[in-house]
Amino acid sequence: MLPKLMAANWKMYKATAQARASAEELCTLLPVTPEQREILVCPPFTAIAAVAAVFAGKPGFLTGAQNLYPKEEGAFTGEISPDMLKDAGARWVLTGHSERRSLFGESDAQVGAKTAFALAQGLNAVLCIGETLDQREAGQLEQVLARQLAAGLADVPPSCPPVCLAVAYEPVWAIGTGKVAGPKEILEAHALVRRLLCEKLGMSRELRILYGGSVKPDNASEIIGLDNVDGVLVGGASLQAESFSRIVRA
Ligand code: PEP
Repeated sequence: MLPKLMAANWKMYKATAQARASAEELCTLLPVTPEQREILVCPPFTAIAAVAAVFAGKPGFLTGAQNLYPKEEGAFTGEISPDMLKDAGARWVLTGHSERRSLFGESDAQVGAKTAFALAQGLNAVLCIGETLDQREAGQLEQVLARQLAAGLADVPPSCPPVCLAVAYEPVWAIGTGKVAGPKEILEAHALVRRLLCEKLGMSRELRILYGGSVKPDNASEIIGLDNVDGVLVGGASLQAESFSRIVRA
């Protein structure tokens, strides 16, 4: 079984000095990675190198990016390639985060192109999926997750090693709202994601499925103990090293 992946998404917070200080504090609070845990921090692009330098030589501490552009290089003003992310020290990248989808208009097809290109270029990827409240209330949970998974993994072969790819189930209505999905909702959605991944898409059973959406130190341990929850993706509560370290230990 792969270790649980405890991921932090720092969004557009922390300039280099603050990011370095937070990464150092995290290493002090977690002198060794707790058993069966991997820690992934995704800072803004400008702080990737600083965080990667702090984590260098620390087993279980990983650095990631929050986005990429699916081309090797070219006239793509403002964009960043997988090689540039690797050069800065990133080994992972998030694709399809709901803020990318809703604020920047990323389509399912674009998310699929980013996920496949990231993997082809040697980055590991966390593909984020999740339904809005309207979709959930309209009974469209399975339809939405099936569509996002099929498109997000359209060009990813089932032979993709499970260690290179994770899926984060993040109900949009629970991101940054303080509303956490209940255990029943998480269990149901994660079982559904597992079934879609294995039966419809032929992916490995070992693929990690993370839960994201208002995870905090006081709810992390219940969430991480649920079936088919192989880690968490944390926004707000990952910004303070102290609270993220408690989530990692949950
Ligand atoms: C996220 O940004 O992926 C997220 C889950 O945010 P929060 O933990 O703040 O809900």
